[in-house]
Amino acid sequence: MGDVEGLIFDIKKYAIHDGPGIRTTVFLKGCPLSCPWCHNPEGISSKPHLVYRKDLCIGCGECLNACPNGAIVNKGNEGFVTIPSLCKGCGTCAEVCPAEAREIIGRKETVQQVLEEIEKDVPFYDTSGGGVTFSGGEPLMQPGFLVPLLDACGERGIHRAVDTSGYADPATLMAVAERTDLFLFDIKLMDPDRHRALTGVSNERILSNLFNLAGTGAKLAVRIPLIPGINDDEENLERTATFLKGLPNGISSIHILPYHETGLSKYKKLGRDYRFRAIGPPSDNHIATVVKRFSDMGLEVKIGG
Ligand code: SF4
Ligand code: SF4
Repeated sequence: MGDVEGLIFDIKKYAIHDGPGIRTTVFLKGCPLSCPWCHNPEGISSKPHLVYRKDLCIGCGECLNACPNGAIVNKGNEGFVTIPSLCKGCGTCAEVCPAEAREIIGRKETVQQVLEEIEKDVPFYDTSGGGVTFSGGEPLMQPGFLVPLLDACGERGIHRAVDTSGYADPATLMAVAERTDLFLFDIKLMDPDRHRALTGVSNERILSNLFNLAGTGAKLAVRIPLIPGINDDEENLERTATFLKGLPNGISSIHILPYHETGLSKYKKLGRDYRFRAIGPPSDNHIATVVKRFSDMGLEVKIGG
């Protein structure tokens, strides 16, 4: 299974917010949700994505000459523009660009290649109680790649965490659960209609997957992004706490992730609008109130990942 390929967009070393200890986080590309506050917008598309930075372009024309598909045109003041319908995402233009003005986000790697990266940091995992975290995007969208990776890490005694939106085929989730030591499970909104309006999908599958996963005794850290004006209202917090309190076998911890705007530069780089530009982070007082609400119900709650 070592030669099975998956599409990833990053491998982050020495991560300390993606589960216990020091971790290596592997980001798999593709997500069925499209949350407008997403901090990893480059992970949403399940295809490689070409980024062009006109501010870095020196106008040499190397990319235009190298593109095998005639997908680049010189539009003068607009720069060396890519025609999306002709671009195959091959990355040739990025390879020849001397100014790093073109970049392909998303690369195919084999299970063996990713495993070799993960294994390099085993001494850090051993001394810190860390391991590997598979994130995204939504890692459960690539089960043919994720499952053998989880198996290979398990055979080497590496702690395995999976960071998921929970929007996955239930059978796939259960297959992954058999090979996972900890789930980082995101809960955003309790109302199905509001959830659909914001993320593009209903939350019914997510909540039933979380309920069933808890029923297996899986270790669960539930993560709640706290987004002012979106999910920090009384009603949603009450429904969230009541639902989590009622899960079979309980959950290990709740992590409140206060909204921040560090992902803004990524939207600019991708040439996309950031719909949430006007909303600021929650105040310290508000965060403390939310933490108290969950802890008053006997739930273990932390701020941050
Ligand atoms: S990624 Fe490939 S097809 Fe797309 S513009 Fe660059 S060279 Fe052309
Ligand atoms: S190769 Fe790079 S620097 Fe040269 S025109 Fe293309 S994008 Fe600009």
